[in-house]
Amino acid sequence: MDSASPIHIFWFRRDLRITDNVGFSEALASGKPVLPLFIFDTDILSRLDDPYDRRVDFILQAVASLKASFQKMGSSLKVFHGNPKAVFKDLIAEHQVEKVFWNRDYEPDALARDEEIASLLENQQIAWASYKDQVIFEGDELLKSNGEPYTIYTPYAKRWRAKLDQEGLDFHQAKLENLLAFEDEGYFSLEELGFQETDMVYSSPVFDIQQIQQYDKLRDYPARDGSTKIGIHLRFGTISIRECVKVALENNATWLSELIWREFFMQILYHFPRVVHESFKREYDQIVWRNNPEEFALWCAGETGYPLVDAGMRELNSTGFMHNRVRMLVASFLTKHLLIDWRLGEAYFASKLNDYELASNNGNWQWAAGCGCDAAPYFRIFNPSIQQQKFDKQGEYIQRWLDDKAYTAVSPMVEHAFARERAIATYKKGITAAK
Ligand SMILES: Cc1cc2nc3c(=O)[nH]c(=O)nc-3n(C[C@H](O)[C@H](O)[C@H](O)COP(=O)(O)OP(=O)(O)OC[C@H]3O[C@@H](n4cnc5c(N)ncnc54)[C@H](O)[C@@H]3O)c2cc1C
Repeated sequence: MDSASPIHIFWFRRDLRITDNVGFSEALASGKPVLPLFIFDTDILSRLDDPYDRRVDFILQAVASLKASFQKMGSSLKVFHGNPKAVFKDLIAEHQVEKVFWNRDYEPDALARDEEIASLLENQQIAWASYKDQVIFEGDELLKSNGEPYTIYTPYAKRWRAKLDQEGLDFHQAKLENLLAFEDEGYFSLEELGFQETDMVYSSPVFDIQQIQQYDKLRDYPARDGSTKIGIHLRFGTISIRECVKVALENNATWLSELIWREFFMQILYHFPRVVHESFKREYDQIVWRNNPEEFALWCAGETGYPLVDAGMRELNSTGFMHNRVRMLVASFLTKHLLIDWRLGEAYFASKLNDYELASNNGNWQWAAGCGCDAAPYFRIFNPSIQQQKFDKQGEYIQRWLDDKAYTAVSPMVEHAFARERAIATYKKGITAAK
């Protein structure tokens, strides 16, 4: 690598793909050789308590796949393990960096990190540019006519669709011949990053069109393979949202609605970053949670005695995935039946879910707890036995995850009718106290 010639840098983060990557394509079209960069951010990794983390393994494999693709073009991917500011300081000292490109990320910590890097670059008179890539419509692009953000899904989704009809989707070609030519074999193992090998096997995402066409009919039945498992790819950007939306428009309106829910919660987090810690409906923060640690441990372990709840928690604990219908039930069970603060359940999911994504996790937990925007009213409480009859009538899903003989001995930890009454009374008291 000739360190005297000016270069541009593209910084990969949660957009680990070549195809239809807005910022990467723009960098490659900018006229200077592009050094692709990825940083295993120690600030993020240090917050992960469990060294067996499938997400880190997924990222490592996706990054290796990018690197291999670039090596075929006579280039490579520069990979660091450290704090982004320190990494950029080193890169600036080593190369004549003219401009840095990245795709925008809307989470509060990511916004703060990017601001820090932008000011470092500005102080050094280095240009930078950021792009919308992760979503179809970002922050202020879709507001109500009075200029305020949407807080109800249905009108938001209606406007989202209308705007998409007007503007259409554009796709972005990467001119890989403009990558900087350099040799770099350097890489990290999971152990070097402080993690262990897991059972995660990364492969490029492929749409199962037949499955997507049946999505509205099968998605609610956890025993059926009715959902796409695309979540982890959207999370780390190994697939483009524009490609997903194109497929949804052509094949299934319900699947499109789910992709819009993703953006709905992302814009909620962007406009109301306080939801990370607070209930969207503030009066719900007056609820006096029971937060019994033994009961929380039983829920985590899938030992509540309600088979569908327990099957879901065991699916999560063994695979890092849980079916959406069951996610809704277990979240409702924790917050209503056990009266445990939604933030504890949210944190447990955050530590386990392969597709963990702050906006969707927070938005859905608050939805389930009744305190979120556009949430179901608090007195609507799922009955776990009825949910089981409706969505796993033959018990196929339950058998898949509760096959140990000991399970039949687990009796329900709390009676449904009693728990329901207690939840309604407790919620009512908290909300009334706040008024
Ligand atoms: C308590 C709870 C916590 C959740 N936490 C997360 C999370 O951390 N990350 C996450 O991506 N989803 C989360 N979801 C939403 C949903 O359960 C998952 O997106 C979905 O189950 C993932 O399966 P899939 O990839 O097969 O998606 P599909 O069902 O095939 O849907 C396609 C994509 O649409 C989006 N989507 C679908 N449903 C929702 C939804 N309700 N809200 C937002 N986006 C949605 C996701 O990006 C998903 O991958 C949560 C739901 C609940 C009830």
